Amino acid sequence: MKFTTSNIITSSAKAPDTSILIIYTGGTLGMVHNDKGSLIPFDFASIMDHIPSLRKLELNITVLSFDNPIDSSNVNPGHWELLGQMIYENYKEYDGFVVLHGTDTMAFTASAISFMLENLNKPVIFTGAQLPISAPRSDARENLITALEIASTKINGKPMVPEVAIYFDSVLLRGNRSKKVESVHFDAFESENYPLLAEAGVVINYNDKFIHYPEENLGLTLHKKLNNKVIILKLFPGISEAAVEAIFSIKGLKGVVMETYGSGNAPTDEWFINLLKGAIDKNIVILNVSQCPGGKVDQGRYETSEDLENIGVISGLDLTLEAAVTKLMMVLEEEEEKAVIKLRMTNSICGEMTIN
Ligand code: ASP
Repeated sequence: MKFTTSNIITSSAKAPDTSILIIYTGGTLGMVHNDKGSLIPFDFASIMDHIPSLRKLELNITVLSFDNPIDSSNVNPGHWELLGQMIYENYKEYDGFVVLHGTDTMAFTASAISFMLENLNKPVIFTGAQLPISAPRSDARENLITALEIASTKINGKPMVPEVAIYFDSVLLRGNRSKKVESVHFDAFESENYPLLAEAGVVINYNDKFIHYPEENLGLTLHKKLNNKVIILKLFPGISEAAVEAIFSIKGLKGVVMETYGSGNAPTDEWFINLLKGAIDKNIVILNVSQCPGGKVDQGRYETSEDLENIGVISGLDLTLEAAVTKLMMVLEEEEEKAVIKLRMTNSICGEMTIN
């Protein structure tokens, strides 16, 4: 995959001392209508014509743009590996990063990147838009300008938000706690299990007690690769034995994120528990996350989750589905041993789950 680099020349009188790298991957923000009337992504140079105020910011801005910007429904772990590499390679040169990304899978990408960039100490702010930048009522302008402000804000010389976060429609959310919840209105993202990191009105109010500030600067480590031999098994009343069996028979399968009911509950049918147990015996990791956006998995609280605990299903506590899938992809790429996988999956890497 190729990239184009461009610089935004600011009209500021003195050279700005803060540098930001924008990485443009695609998404509605930069889309235009094709001959059939469907939205397709276009190049970033044209986007800049729609936001002349970018040039007024007291920032050194460089843009790295995918040569073929994508609708984020086409995102795959290969894109995450590339994005992680791009941030890693440019890490020392910039004070912060803004990633322009489609909203559909933004929460997956932000989660993956948060796990891949260990000891992150600079802002990586994802944003996008519900309406293309060319639309008169587009939300793109405000989202991008505020994301740039957040990525460049410092407190006592240090980054205000040294995290992977999503800024969208006035709220800043921890990336690996976020979910897309809305496809029509502008308020596309929520983080049910974690407070807002900031709220933007006339001023941006930061919730600093919920922002993660590393105790020491350990230096960035990149986890380069992810393993996509995982699948999501969503439970529903009436799910058949044949369907569950088919999932666990997938060749090479390493991990299953099982979306259960409420606080982690599942059917107690013998065939169901036996299939799960058989899979665990074959070293397939099963991670239990809830279909409820709020609350957490608590295996053993009800009789309907006791068996899961007993056979070795791992509790995903309050992980979002997006964080669960991407964390499992990373851990399964790096570990073989069951106990180590469990240890890493049940400990927080960068604030994605509440442990207590
Ligand atoms: N389909 C688009 C995408 O995710 C939607 C968006 O950007 O809001 O790329």
